[in-house]
Amino acid sequence: MPRVLFVFLDGVGLGPATVDNPLATLDLPAFERMAGGQRWTADLAPIRQPRHVVVPIDATLGLEGLPQSGTGQATLFTGENAAAAHGRHFGPYPPTTVRPLVAEASVFAQLAAAGVPPERLAFANAYPDRFFRVVEARGRWTVTTLAATAAGVRLRRAGDLAARRALPADLTGETWRRLIDPAHAVQTEAEAAHDLAALLDDHRFVLHEYYLTDKAGHSRDPARAAEVLGSLDRFFGALLDALPPDVLLVLSSDHGNLEDLGTKSHTRHPVPLVAWGPGADAFAEATSLLDVTPAVVGLWTG
Ligand SMILES: [Zn+2]
Repeated sequence: MPRVLFVFLDGVGLGPATVDNPLATLDLPAFERMAGGQRWTADLAPIRQPRHVVVPIDATLGLEGLPQSGTGQATLFTGENAAAAHGRHFGPYPPTTVRPLVAEASVFAQLAAAGVPPERLAFANAYPDRFFRVVEARGRWTVTTLAATAAGVRLRRAGDLAARRALPADLTGETWRRLIDPAHAVQTEAEAAHDLAALLDDHRFVLHEYYLTDKAGHSRDPARAAEVLGSLDRFFGALLDALPPDVLLVLSSDHGNLEDLGTKSHTRHPVPLVAWGPGADAFAEATSLLDVTPAVVGLWTG
């Protein structure tokens, strides 16, 4: 049974290869490597091989309007249609109607129910103390922090980051140094990739969440998009080389955004699903956000 590393990118869709699509215009060798030498656009030809799957999956979930992070992530990380349950797309936080689903049926909860001890499940992101103050004051759980906490998977903090047992949200830690701790040492994306891969030494399932892609999409700023995608590409280049052979990398998103800088809003484009490594073929028939968590959990229960 493979160990699984799930890298979640917020707001990355597969859109037409226009001048407004940085995934079409930028040179991103690691992204292309993960797609069998193709750019991440609507023209991408699906790959369904035993150890490598790349398919576009639907993020609209049968509803009108623009997909949002709250219901999209709740769907991605539970396998249940949270947007339909809520009656519409909602975000960025999970609506109260959907919180019990996220708390009780997340991929973390399902893996724990399948017999993986919670201490073998990891959510790799580091959260600063101010995050916990905001959660306590306003109840602003995100889908992933709620899913992890409810399943007994602890949120990592400054001490874990200092010990290189957690990743800063921007991978390099520049934001952490600027906003949280001026003494924090920044790192390269390659060092972040190695730290993430090292978490798999003592975990069976590791999740990392990256949301600057969505922020860059909202900014409509091509320079910002190039910065974020260049940083991610350096990260993935190192990560693909650092992963042990028995680790399955799963990568997906919750909705489109960054692939169309012509609009500051989300898009209805499909999102990428990449599975790279042993067991990848379990994801070959996925067609929507609904299919990702069942395929992950099926690696243990199937
Ligand atoms: Zn957004």
